[in-house]
Amino acid sequence: RAQIQAQSLALSDAMTQACDYYRGQLRHAPEAIAYLKNRGLTGEVAARFGMGFAPGGWDNLRSVFPEYDVVALAEAGLVIDKVDEEGNNRKRYDRFRERIMFPIRNTKGQVIAFGGRVLDHGEPKYLNSPETPLFSKGFELYGLFEARQAIRDAGYVLVTEGYMDVVALAQMGFPQAVATLGTACTPTHVQKLLRQTDNVIFSFDGDKAGRRAARRALEASLAHVSDNKTIKFLFLPSEHDPDSYIREFGAEGFEQQVHEAMPLSQFLLKEVSGEHDLSEPEGRARVQFDAKPLLQLMAPSSLRLQIVRGLAQLTQSTPAEIEALFELAKPVAV
Ligand code: ATP
Ligand code: MN
Ligand code: MN
Ligand code: MN
Repeated sequence: RAQIQAQSLALSDAMTQACDYYRGQLRHAPEAIAYLKNRGLTGEVAARFGMGFAPGGWDNLRSVFPEYDVVALAEAGLVIDKVDEEGNNRKRYDRFRERIMFPIRNTKGQVIAFGGRVLDHGEPKYLNSPETPLFSKGFELYGLFEARQAIRDAGYVLVTEGYMDVVALAQMGFPQAVATLGTACTPTHVQKLLRQTDNVIFSFDGDKAGRRAARRALEASLAHVSDNKTIKFLFLPSEHDPDSYIREFGAEGFEQQVHEAMPLSQFLLKEVSGEHDLSEPEGRARVQFDAKPLLQLMAPSSLRLQIVRGLAQLTQSTPAEIEALFELAKPVAV
């Protein structure tokens, strides 16, 4: 019986209906509207991203889905099933309550997941849909569907950490932004982005977590960067993220940051140089030691050669010595 019911509600239909419901609820939630206004967002940008509101209450989705108990709603991550220790007495309730809702769409524009933000200082600040048959975090990027044309027009994509960064940037004149949603940027993300554009600029938060995210993005990029692609890293002051920065310094200030973004080659050399003392052989060896696994991720290319040259200069070696020592893959002979 459960199976027959599951088939009666497709996961993607459930997501669409839930999204429509949350959007409608936003209109009746003055506290949520006030929150968004207070963060400087207009109704237009909220509409562009299909933002909504999940009201307080444990089973509001009953009004959307009279068949509230179907398996599909749990599979879609819209409800949570709680069972007691013996695995009995299943109690079902809505996952998202009293949160601003951000729908995540796939490249076809279908809603596949949600992120929800609390209005106050509650925990967790953001709640995301779990991995579902529709949604795989390492693959999807928030805002990519909405940003696609803008990425083409601008000639580059901005990759941020958060929902609010994407929405604020769009409102302030940078609609070419997407977000990795707090998870690490994966090689799959990079591949997906490089299918849309030849120029990727990572713009993470200025704090420690953001710098760590940039390092992960560097690693994720190395396998997919090539001579006709440019990947850069924009580093904001430590107390800022793209949202707060553009609010404080405006579109011009942010444009300046984009202009000054650091090319991947420079970031890589800076990362491996670290605190090591290049005036000592041990320090130079340590730099090479740190660089080796990164360069090994790269396919043979002019860019790799340029980085090897930079590294050779830093460490008093020759490019040939480094290529041999690192056992770098050679170009395939034709
Ligand atoms: P805001 O500006 O609304 O405070 P933010 O986007 O700056 O939010 P960060 O703390 O920088 O928030 O987190 C970046 C992103 O990481 C968020 O947009 C969200 O996707 C994800 N994230 C943050 N906190 C959590 C959490 N507790 N659980 C799951 N994801 C989270
Ligand atoms: Mn952060
Ligand atoms: Mn942030
Ligand atoms: Mn923020």
